[in-house]
Amino acid sequence: MRKDALHPIGALDPAYLSAATLRGTWYEIDLGAIRRNYRALRNHLATRVRIYACLKRNGYGCGVGPVARTLALEGVSGFAVASVLDAVEIRASGVREAILLYPGATPLSVALLEDLDLTVTISSLDEVAQWQSVARRLPVCIKIDLGFFRAGATPGTAIDLISAVRGSQTLCLQGIYAHVSELPGQTRSHALAQLSRMNALLKELGRSGLPAPMTMMSSTESVLTYPEMDFDAVDPGALFFGLPEAVYPVRTVDLEPALKKISTSLVSVKAIDSSLGPLPELPGFRDGMRIGVIGMGWGDGVPRNLQTPSFALVRGRRAQLLPPAHLEHLRIDLTQIPDACFGDEVVLLGCQKGERISLEELAKDWGTDAVGLYANLRDHVPRIYT
Ligand SMILES: *Cc1c(COP(=O)(O)O)cnc(C)c1O
Repeated sequence: MRKDALHPIGALDPAYLSAATLRGTWYEIDLGAIRRNYRALRNHLATRVRIYACLKRNGYGCGVGPVARTLALEGVSGFAVASVLDAVEIRASGVREAILLYPGATPLSVALLEDLDLTVTISSLDEVAQWQSVARRLPVCIKIDLGFFRAGATPGTAIDLISAVRGSQTLCLQGIYAHVSELPGQTRSHALAQLSRMNALLKELGRSGLPAPMTMMSSTESVLTYPEMDFDAVDPGALFFGLPEAVYPVRTVDLEPALKKISTSLVSVKAIDSSLGPLPELPGFRDGMRIGVIGMGWGDGVPRNLQTPSFALVRGRRAQLLPPAHLEHLRIDLTQIPDACFGDEVVLLGCQKGERISLEELAKDWGTDAVGLYANLRDHVPRIYT
């Protein structure tokens, strides 16, 4: 498909707006921020370095289809996801660029993978045999584990694996990749040790006359910290959503958060009176208070046991949330906001009439960090794209 045949993404697509209106709860995602974060990275890389945008977990909760379309229009080389469903969404949104599947797919799905023109990851000779027995012609990448102790061939087994794939009639080697990451307790020098293992492997491949068609190893933290890990391609993910993830960046980028707002509404408001019986022995309850119920609960990603005190915005003022959260509802203390009424917007993240709840504040209230907050976004909550 020609690039200009892709649909440009307009502000406030009515289809998303009506979904949000029907449910009264939505996320606001800024595709412009994602575009600018992409450009900021692109400016740091040599033109020959390709970018495969990692959009796993439904594009870090931001909606893999619209995010992929935005990055395709920017000229990204391809995408990487862990779930076949995310790849299906990307193809359904009209994007034709390459899609790499991280470890996760099994040979049971081979027909679908071939139809969608996906590249599969292989980490062992057993995987080679299993995919070969069912595939017609399958593009593959080999994953190398450089010391993260997750999926991937050990550097010691990589040469045999690469030559097995190169000798295959059905598997078509696209490249090798690794994921540089550190386990708790590992030090900075560990990332550099992983780089030296990759360099040693590349040298050995060259000596064996088996140069890999593409080498890729940098995700967000490493692409911002170790330019020497760029090789032929990089596959960061968090970066596009404004999550810098790097403690000591040498490439400075002003990343903008893609998630601008989490908004819901008051689905019930009432004054507490004695006919309800004794007050529950929970923090925040008191005689004569006005309580509201918001249309979001732990089924929508809010943790069951929110930190106390945690706040949301109603009519531009802070109101204290009253955990525990329920599946679809959460109480809120409206005593100080006597004009609050049924249907009012409640903002959990973002701005309302000059007041603001930041990503950092919300992440703390949810007992996590910014990446954990994005991971808590739920696919059924409508998204408005701006
Ligand atoms: C998640 C992941 C990435 C992207 O990581 P970020 O920290 O989000 O940039 C890259 N490569 C692999 C193999 C991954 O699993």
